[in-house]
This record gives sequence, structure tokens and C-alpha cells, in this order.
Amino acid sequence: MKPRVYLSSPHMSGHELKYVHEAFDQNWIAPLGPNVDRFEETLGSYCGVKHAAALSSGTAALHLALVMLGVKTGDEVLVSSFTFSASVNPIVYQGATPVFIDSELDTWNMDPDLLEAAILDRRAKGGTNKIKAIVVVHLYGMPAKMDKIMEVANRYDIPVIEDAAEALGSKYNGKALGSFGKMAILSFNGNKIITTSGGGALISDDESLIKKARFLATQARDQAPHYQHSEIGYNYRMSNVLAGIGRGQMEVIDDRISKRREIYSYYKKNLDKFEGIKFLSEPGIGYFSNFWLTTVLIDESKLGVSKEKIAEELAKHNIETRPVWKPMHLQPVFKNFASYLNNNSEYLFKNGLCLPSGSNMSETTLKQIVDIICQTISKKS
Ligand SMILES: *Cc1c(COP(=O)(O)O)cnc(C)c1O
Repeated sequence: MKPRVYLSSPHMSGHELKYVHEAFDQNWIAPLGPNVDRFEETLGSYCGVKHAAALSSGTAALHLALVMLGVKTGDEVLVSSFTFSASVNPIVYQGATPVFIDSELDTWNMDPDLLEAAILDRRAKGGTNKIKAIVVVHLYGMPAKMDKIMEVANRYDIPVIEDAAEALGSKYNGKALGSFGKMAILSFNGNKIITTSGGGALISDDESLIKKARFLATQARDQAPHYQHSEIGYNYRMSNVLAGIGRGQMEVIDDRISKRREIYSYYKKNLDKFEGIKFLSEPGIGYFSNFWLTTVLIDESKLGVSKEKIAEELAKHNIETRPVWKPMHLQPVFKNFASYLNNNSEYLFKNGLCLPSGSNMSETTLKQIVDIICQTISKKS
């Protein structure tokens, strides 16, 4: 059997070990140190924000963001339904109620009009629940319509947290994603565009929020000679060893994005001719996606083969594909929460497929994948 082709696997530059060695040489084997400091500086400047806190995961970053906004039992947080569960779980950790907002078809991300309708409806319903935050996700690297989302959020004075876990390096109207909201989260999990094996970050222009995040992430220790605590803390900081990997990865982030965009272009060039295959593409000027994953919609009635069949044929060659995220309003664990729907995310879930998109994939493999898909379609078995 040939080695497995993954959707997105870690792609080291070779520079990472230098920084990891530094951590060992200096004995900075701790959740703080020079690698953490440098990684945070690089992340902040890359995303066009003033401050960043490196943390143990993207999920931890979102949790701290919600804690700092005072999200608690009885509050509501509006969140994209079409996402990974990590965008929602921390809302529930806080005892708050997620309210799911469906997608638009061009970006696949939160529909700004539906967001506004949801805000008005939650308010009309009155009650004591308060909308404390909006979590907007940039799925698969594609920017959400941030001008409209921010316009709605500002109109009702609701803070926005961007979930840019999949979108490091993507831009909207020339501005990096993660720099629009009050705060944003990033993820460096093993399958993301860069990785620290596991890790995340909270970024913001507001220095006080990032300082507070660092404080909460290190067990909320007060300034005192003894261990003293006036607030509940967390153990969410990133290890200085892992931040070394992050430093090496940030040296090649632009190469990684170029490669992912080339992979998308190759798929599109060779598969766009099929009427039954539709790509998640940048909907116009102003959108710059890192194309973390290339994703397509398969219309079986037009193509003559199902997305399951395509996935099955690729699996025979040990090539991984995956359905797109299953919307949160369809998840058993979240089924009792309110949602504002337009059928789009259900349609995307029914037809969507993620294609292998790792920046370390060879051209031969990419060509092979396209050939297998073309052959499967021509056989129409
Ligand atoms: C990966 C991911 C997260 C969570 O990041 P972790 O670092 O794995 O905790 C959050 N949101 C989205 C959309 C993700 O893809």
C-alpha cells in the first residue's frame, strides 16, 4: 500500500529544530520563555494586530475570550452553525447559550442579514437573555463578509470574536483576518496551515485584553510573594518548546499559503469543466483565502456520480477526503439550542467534500487525485 495521503498534514520547514534546541540549551522548558515571546510578536505583526498571547489551543483561546467578555449563565452568544464544534463548546463551558446562524452560499460563512434578523428576533422575544458576543468563523480559510458583519455588530453594540483557526494569512479588503473583531483566535493544531503540534493564540489590538488573557491562562496568580488568587484561573499557556516550532513555521507561512492556493488552482483548472462540480471560490475582489482546504460541492444529478463514490475511489488509493463540517444545529449535543436557518449549511453539508490540500503534497500525487476523480466520473459506475 502506498503511504497515506492526508487532507492536511504537518509540513515542517527544518528551521523549527533550531528554536527547539535553543529552548533545550537555555533550559526554557516551560510555558513561557523567549520562543513564546518571539512567536507572539511575529503572530501579532503578521495579522496586523498589536498583541498576541500564545496558548495551548484555539479552543482555550476562545474560552478565554468569552471569559473576558463576561459571558456567563443566561447569556447568549451568536455563532456560525457551519463550523467545527470547537467554535461552540467554550460557550457551553461558560454556561451560556449558543444561538446558531446559518451560512450564505458565496462564502459559506455567517449570513450577515440572518445575523441581524436573529438579533432583532432575540430582542423582540425579550426575556432576560443578553447577547454578549458574536463568534464569526472564517471556514476553510475563506473570509466571512466582515464589513457587513461588523456593521451589524456595531449597530447593536455586540463585540465580535473572529474564529480564524483555519484562516491564518487570509485577507478581506487587504486586511488580515483576525484584525476586524475585538479579539480573534488562531489554531496551530496538527492539521492547520501551520502547526505547533497543538496550540493556539488569542490576538487583539487591545493590550489590556491580551495581558488579562496571559494572567488568566497562568492560573490567575495575583502579584504577591505567596500564591494568591482573586479570580478563577486556567492552565492554558503555550510551552516554550512548542513555540519554537511555531517560530520556524512562521518563517515559511507565505510559502505555505502560496502552495495551498496553487493546489486549489490546479484542482479548479482541471475539474471546473464538470457542471456537477462547484468550488468554494473567492466571491470577488477583496477576498483572499489561504485555501487551507480545497472544498467542492458535488451535484450527483449533474455529475452522474456521488461524492461518496468519489471518496470511495480515492480511499482505494489510500487518499483521504472528508465530508465538510456537519452544521452545529444538526449535532445531537446542540439540538436544543435556537438557530436561525436558511437551509444553506444543510445543503453544503449534503453536497460538500474536502479534497487533500496539504502543502507537502507532491505534484504527482495531486495529478493522481485529479486523474482518479476524472476516471470515476467518466466511468459513471
Ligand atoms: C481547529 C479549529 C478550532 C479549534 O482549534 P484547536 O487548536 O484545535 O483547539 C476552532 N475553530 C475552528 C473552525 C477550527 O477549525
